[in-house]
Amino acid sequence: MQLTFKPYTLNLKHQFTLAQSSRSTTPVVLTKIEYENYVGYGEASMPPYLGESHETVIKFLSKVNLKQFKDPFQLSDILEYVDKIAPKNTAAKAAVDIALHDLLGKIMNKAWYQIWGFAREKAPLTTYTIGIDSEEVIRQKVKEAEPYKIIKVKLGRDNDKEIIKIIRSVTDKPIAVDVNQGWKDWQKALDMIYWLEEQNTLFVEQPMPKEMIDDMALLTDESPLPTFADEAVQGIDDVLKTRGVYSGINIKLMKCGGMRNAREMLSIARALNMQVMLGCMTETSCAVSAAAQLAPAVDFADLDGNLLITNDPFAGVQVINGKALALKQAGIGVELKDNEFWDGSNK
Ligand code: MG
Repeated sequence: MQLTFKPYTLNLKHQFTLAQSSRSTTPVVLTKIEYENYVGYGEASMPPYLGESHETVIKFLSKVNLKQFKDPFQLSDILEYVDKIAPKNTAAKAAVDIALHDLLGKIMNKAWYQIWGFAREKAPLTTYTIGIDSEEVIRQKVKEAEPYKIIKVKLGRDNDKEIIKIIRSVTDKPIAVDVNQGWKDWQKALDMIYWLEEQNTLFVEQPMPKEMIDDMALLTDESPLPTFADEAVQGIDDVLKTRGVYSGINIKLMKCGGMRNAREMLSIARALNMQVMLGCMTETSCAVSAAAQLAPAVDFADLDGNLLITNDPFAGVQVINGKALALKQAGIGVELKDNEFWDGSNK
């Protein structure tokens, strides 16, 4: 098996504004694992708050030697070896994990949702994220979100109600709210959630700072809407800690290190009787298609990362009737739009 990789920079359709930061590009590293006549694709996406960059991912991937493995079906051994190369580096690890899954699926000639035993069409509706912005831009973004049946809104500043009112003046679609740890006061957070419930809101993601565990547990207890941990849950080890603190967890391949760990987190959360949502970073159709394999098994999907960029080199996951559905193709279901892309320059 041979691993190669390619750094790339995604251009965002809109400057992406969260409670704490703002940006217009996202660095990614695309990976390729070749074995006999098969090629598997993967991706690491590195939004700044994850602490990884082109440099750290390239450094990590340069240490990965897959030539020592003769059989790609030794998935567990291979991924355990990769995991032990260095701590953290979850996006870099996901890039190997996804490419290996894509490769295996292609060898078996099955999509991963099939291998895992899920019915593709059971995927929930996907949300489409609208960042914090001016009234004019918000109106325009809501129009762009026409094909999507749920709008996700980033809150956590002092104008939260204004933003929701603007959205409500344009559309009555249900909304999902991501506060990105922006609310520091328990009572205000609860009041806000009650108000949001009246505005047809489905759930609230990471309302309070992840360190405020006791306040968060109390908030979930009192909240009329489900609460989801995002920043508070990275990988497998964190799931148990969220029990009793949040209603559910947001699984993202870049946080947890890939498809294998994501599948395991889903099982743990279900064993704890918790809800599960599936998220993504701004990333290409490659990583989003990989995540979409798990979508039929979750309660909420937030798989819009590929829709927020202008230079996606892959074709894959499609939005059909408001659902982000994996293609009925082997592996993770992606193809390069341009076969020359891999050897060309980073445009
Ligand atoms: Mg989030």
